[in-house]
Amino acid sequence: MRQAVSGQKVGAIPAMGGKRIVLVAAALALLAWSCAASANLEESRRGMVNLLRRYGIADEDVLGAMAEVPRHLYIPEEYRWLRDPYGDHACPIGHGQTISQPYIVAYMTEQIDPAPGKKVLEIGTGSGYQAAILAELGAEVYTIEIIPELAEHADSVLESQGYENVHVLTGDGYLGWPEHSPFDAVIVTCAPEEIPRALVEQLADGGRMILPLGDRLQRLVILEKEADSVRVTEDMPVRFVPMVHGEEE
Ligand code: SAH
Repeated sequence: MRQAVSGQKVGAIPAMGGKRIVLVAAALALLAWSCAASANLEESRRGMVNLLRRYGIADEDVLGAMAEVPRHLYIPEEYRWLRDPYGDHACPIGHGQTISQPYIVAYMTEQIDPAPGKKVLEIGTGSGYQAAILAELGAEVYTIEIIPELAEHADSVLESQGYENVHVLTGDGYLGWPEHSPFDAVIVTCAPEEIPRALVEQLADGGRMILPLGDRLQRLVILEKEADSVRVTEDMPVRFVPMVHGEEE
């Protein structure tokens, strides 16, 4: 009896050792896989940035931020691998919304020229990716999202990435964020049919706003505010999700 018991015990030690070896090997394999995966993602990100360069994005700071920010992390897990997160296309993020195409993110960012010390208002937080790019460039970012689940997801990814210069609000972007105005720049990433008046009011003198405007046929519009005058320039055709009206308007 005692021998059997001790036999069991003695036998259990090499068996545990074997299991441990298997566990260590599995952990090493996982580590190797995740290193390879993150090297692949970095490679994909470099590929994306090279493409942006070829498409005419020239601002090295913007390209640097796009090379730095892990775009895939901003896409909620259940949607992350439905489309290549580093391809030059929009990707679904749930609730019928999308993370914008990298070229559009880079282009719109270039147009508002975010920099340390500048206050930027974004309407349509979505995944939080555009906000991360603005924050990476040193701007103080205020971003508003109307779908609470998306706002929460974006806020938690941005926090996990260590950004202290992004402030996420769940609410209706048509109202802007008057408490923090005036903003040096406003970037709207959903399409209203008319330029929202509150956003123009909350833009600082000398400030720039970029937004997609229209229903089915949309164009990017750049608005420059000087003293009491506003200059509006039409830019390229685009396709964004609509800017919906909140209940309280
Ligand atoms: N900038 C985002 C892309 C967002 S897609 C990114 O980097 O991922 C557009 C977003 O605008 C959607 O999440 C949509 O819910 C939001 N939206 C639509 N109407 C809005 C409104 N009135 N106020 C705030 N957000 C709005």
